[in-house]
Amino acid sequence: MTMRFKRILLKLSGESLMGEQGFGIDPQRLSDYAQQIKEVHEMGVQIGIVIGGGNIFRGLSGSQKGFDRVKGDQMGMCATVINSLALSSALGAIGVKTKVLTAIRMEPIGEFYSKWKAIEAMESGHVCIFSAGTGSPYFTTDTGSSLRGIEIEADVMLKGTRVDGIYTADPEKDPKATKFTDITYDEIYTRGLKVMDLTATTMCKENNLPIYVFNMDVYGNLKRVIDGEEIGTLVHN
Ligand code: UDP
Repeated sequence: MTMRFKRILLKLSGESLMGEQGFGIDPQRLSDYAQQIKEVHEMGVQIGIVIGGGNIFRGLSGSQKGFDRVKGDQMGMCATVINSLALSSALGAIGVKTKVLTAIRMEPIGEFYSKWKAIEAMESGHVCIFSAGTGSPYFTTDTGSSLRGIEIEADVMLKGTRVDGIYTADPEKDPKATKFTDITYDEIYTRGLKVMDLTATTMCKENNLPIYVFNMDVYGNLKRVIDGEEIGTLVHN
């Protein structure tokens, strides 16, 4: 069998890390994620990961409460570092070697990111965790993962969410919503679908990085995607 993806960029949402708790990091969810990642790592897939920070802090909601936007975004980026360290620790505990790279210098917490450091680490069997987003305010970790995915020449961005793909409308609100098995970036714009922010979507479109949206909160789904099961939605040009 030929491997469908040699190298992936996995985007995990910070919010999902809360699990049933409603805040912070749920140890069960964290270890479920780590196990799923270990499974595909053992298949020989090179893995880069970006994890959000929404379970801890978001700059935009901070600024609505009176925080300076740039400082709020910096707090959000720090939140992604916290989640990255948690994931790195959970992977380490089950024998998966990881390297946390940071978009902002903060040794010894993680090494300062560079494309070549990342590729070298992945090729030597480490899972790379790209933390602190893009390192700049006014961006999101979705944009951070588009950027890193393109830079590391990933075959696909796997966007793990709590819904199983892209729908014509929000399936949690509209019972008549139907799911796409695949969709173009342009159709996302014209239908005004909220898959990722427009900056992140445009980065992927302009650089031809396909996105696969799937439900990562169902254990085993990451491997199903790698195995080629069509359980989510593919976004392409
Ligand atoms: N953030 C930022 N620049 C980046 C990435 C993230 O300023 O390149 C900040 C931003 O404030 C964002 C927060 O970090 O609200 C957390 O990231 P995100 O909201 O993307 O996490 P998620 O919603 O996926 O949990």
